[in-house]
Amino acid sequence: MPESSTRTTGIGAAVIGASSAGLYTACLLAEAGHPVTVYETARSLDPKPRTLIVTSRMRDLLGQVGDESVVGEINKFELYANGRVATVDLDRPDLIIDRSKLIRSLARQAEASGVQIHLNHRFKGLKSNGRGLRLQLETGRNGTRTTHHKEAGALIGADGTFSTVARSAGWPEQPSIPLVQAVVNLPSDFDRNTSKVWFVPEDTPYFYWLIPEFSGRGALGVIGEDPRRTREGLERFVEKQGLEPVEFQAARIPRYNKWIPTHREVGRGNVYLVGDAAGQVKVSTVGGIVTGLRGAIGVAEAITGSGPSTELRDLRRELDRHLLIRRALHRFKESDYDRLLRFLNEPARRALGATNRDDAGALLRRVLRRQPRLVALGLRCLLSDPGLIRLARF
Ligand SMILES: Cc1cc2nc3c(=O)[nH]c(=O)nc-3n(C[C@H](O)[C@H](O)[C@H](O)COP(=O)(O)OP(=O)(O)OC[C@H]3O[C@@H](n4cnc5c(N)ncnc54)[C@H](O)[C@@H]3O)c2cc1C
Repeated sequence: MPESSTRTTGIGAAVIGASSAGLYTACLLAEAGHPVTVYETARSLDPKPRTLIVTSRMRDLLGQVGDESVVGEINKFELYANGRVATVDLDRPDLIIDRSKLIRSLARQAEASGVQIHLNHRFKGLKSNGRGLRLQLETGRNGTRTTHHKEAGALIGADGTFSTVARSAGWPEQPSIPLVQAVVNLPSDFDRNTSKVWFVPEDTPYFYWLIPEFSGRGALGVIGEDPRRTREGLERFVEKQGLEPVEFQAARIPRYNKWIPTHREVGRGNVYLVGDAAGQVKVSTVGGIVTGLRGAIGVAEAITGSGPSTELRDLRRELDRHLLIRRALHRFKESDYDRLLRFLNEPARRALGATNRDDAGALLRRVLRRQPRLVALGLRCLLSDPGLIRLARF
């Protein structure tokens, strides 16, 4: 169903959360002539450095602003399962980005477009009033907290997985899964342009990955279902790879299991969600940067445009396709991964390397055309899970 289009009233838009999705939404709205204020709970725009991997789609979306965060490129993926390895050469390299640089450069762009960014402002709740929305925000440190009230015609929740905006406006809580990462020292002969992925279904229905960082270190991560087992599995895996952990990072990320409508009316005001707050994360790989930026474009379109947002419609399709892939992979045993890698013949690997995983429809079409045996492997799962048929619209 298309997302409806609504306009802010004259009292401007408020964005909660100064991370990638929120700042990009703010930029787009300000560039379209809307007064925008961003409220961020952190006291400085200096998030801890975190190395992320994104497709070249980020560069297409952000141009120069995105380029400032790029610290490396990946030309090759190595996929491991059951002692087998398949190598995929990428036509367009993936980008290694420093999340803190991305946020700072988006903030600069937002401020240059006229956005006001208020740090140390925690969103607590909202009420509707005659003109729009009345936001409750808190400033200060523990013990000396002050409550402020601000008005907004539109409120955009870009406040992450456990969004207070979503809760305040009546969205149901979204499911989430634990992600644990170990920062590891890489051996000096490690190829800095290669990223590795291991499928170990007895540890996790997802996978382990290793992204090389620019500093001679790498991020070895895993997504699981139970936080304790996921962490223990990672510790064992790091040791098995003969790597030395420097620190561990843990977070919960949204587990997309159906599209979350991004707009609700609260009295006379409009509330929107973007990024992790709206579950806009590819559940096949749990990448959320590019999809969150696309969510930002969609919400900006819905606020400023005169018709339904085509970006949100396309994003929904994209996220559903990743859900389809995830549901199939979730049922894979070691023998299925073994077959998957065996079936990845030269033409299928070339198709995989030529197609961006932020365009899952094209990727599935091209790879399955090159290797029809993968259709049978996927279909076996489709037929054992009726929920998949509904999603198989690519
Ligand atoms: C360890 C880890 C590794 C990852 N690796 C990758 C990767 O390699 N590639 C990829 O594409 N994705 C990756 N992701 C996912 C990606 O980081 C997220 O999808 C993305 O950062 C979400 O951006 P966002 O702007 O929606 O939300 P967030 O980045 O979560 O930002 C939310 C912001 O809202 C603020 N906030 C929260 N509550 C309030 C409040 N009440 N009031 C005011 N402000 C508030 C927070 O302080 C924060 O600044 C990873 C995630 C994790 C945790």
